[in-house]
Amino acid sequence: MSEQVTPIKLGMVNAYLLRAGDGFVLVDTGVPESWDDLEAALKSAGALPERLKLVVITHGDFDHTGGCAKLQKRYGARIAMHQGDAPMAETGTPLKRDVSRLGRFLMWMNKRRKDRPEFEKFKPDIFLTDGQSLEEYGVDARIVFLPGHTPGSLGILMSNGDMISGDTLSNMFKPGTSPFIADRDELLSSITKLKSMDLRTIYPGHGKPFPAERLSKIST
Ligand SMILES: [Zn+2]
Repeated sequence: MSEQVTPIKLGMVNAYLLRAGDGFVLVDTGVPESWDDLEAALKSAGALPERLKLVVITHGDFDHTGGCAKLQKRYGARIAMHQGDAPMAETGTPLKRDVSRLGRFLMWMNKRRKDRPEFEKFKPDIFLTDGQSLEEYGVDARIVFLPGHTPGSLGILMSNGDMISGDTLSNMFKPGTSPFIADRDELLSSITKLKSMDLRTIYPGHGKPFPAERLSKIST
């Protein structure tokens, strides 16, 4: 496993911390109720209060953007994401999309939880585009646009071939894709695109990292 990508486990969701020169880049921020865990993990890594150079959001779902507003307000963090998902962040309105049986179960579980903190809306500071390098933020990586799970989903390709995939890929029970799909054709082309790349380890939005060879078993 790469030393460049450090997972931060936030309940059922993953965030990842990347070393960025003398600072850090955070990828995703968990659900709103994981804020204390996220803040503690970032402090113990030395990223907070002032060495967090950028927060990259793989997509606009609340389970990945739950800490954004607090990181912006309390620590002046800059949030970067694809413009396609900005409306979700700015309005707090979840996307309407196809949901599998597993997805409906996850939604039911989520609704059952009481006294959850509300999602705090936020305005992204930076919009990322396909192929964009993160070098100016101290990370040898680039953005790969992967629409389908949401209109603005993206992955982060590290220079060693490691890929932080957001929910385009997940590993809840086995490597696969998310049970929530905004556009199936787009999602399938995004997965085909990932299969065509020379990748090493996949770091999914949910579940454990897995070797990229496992991608060939995911049907498209
Ligand atoms: Zn998710």
